Amino acid sequence: MDFSETELVPTGNMKWQCPECQKRGQFSSVRLFQANFDSAIYFCENKNCLYPHETGSPSKFVVRRSVEEIPVNVEMLRSLDLPETLLSEPCLRTGHLDQLIWLSAFHPHIKTAVEVDQHWKLLMAKMRVNEKIENELEKIKDFYDPDLEKLKGFTDEMIRFGKHIVPDLEEIINLIRC
Ligand SMILES: [Zn+2]
Repeated sequence: MDFSETELVPTGNMKWQCPECQKRGQFSSVRLFQANFDSAIYFCENKNCLYPHETGSPSKFVVRRSVEEIPVNVEMLRSLDLPETLLSEPCLRTGHLDQLIWLSAFHPHIKTAVEVDQHWKLLMAKMRVNEKIENELEKIKDFYDPDLEKLKGFTDEMIRFGKHIVPDLEEIINLIRC
C-alpha cells in the first residue's frame, strides 16, 4: 500500500493512526518529525513498525516543511509560558512564536510605554512651532522606546495571535499608530 496522508485517520494534533499497526490490532500514531531546516519525515511511533518506510520511495514519506512552519502544540506553549488558548489559531506556526514570546515579556510594560508615548505626542504638538526642536525630539524618542516601534510593526495576523496575551492589543496598536 502506498503511503498517503489522506489514507490516515486523524487522531488530533498532527497525529494519524497507523494503518499497518491497526491491521495487527494495535493503535499507534504516525507522526511528522522535523528532520532538518526544510524537511520533515513521517514515522510510525511504534518502534517495531516500519510504516510508512517499507513502502520504498522516500518521496512518499519525506515532505518539505520549514522549521518555521511546524504547527504549535500544547507542550511548546506550556514550555514558553504562552496561553494555551493560542491552540484555537489554526494558522499559528513556530515562526510566529518569537514575536509572541517578546510580547509576553513586554506585556507588563505596555501601559507605561503607551502613556509615555501619548504624553510625548502631546508635547510634540505643543512644540511643533519649532521644527528644529521637533527633529531633535524625534531622534531621542526612537532611542528611548524601540519596543513600541516593534509593536507598531505587528501584522493583522500577529495582532490576532497577540490578543491571546494582551486582550486589548488592537486598541493599543491603533492608539500608538496614530
Ligand atoms: Zn505502525
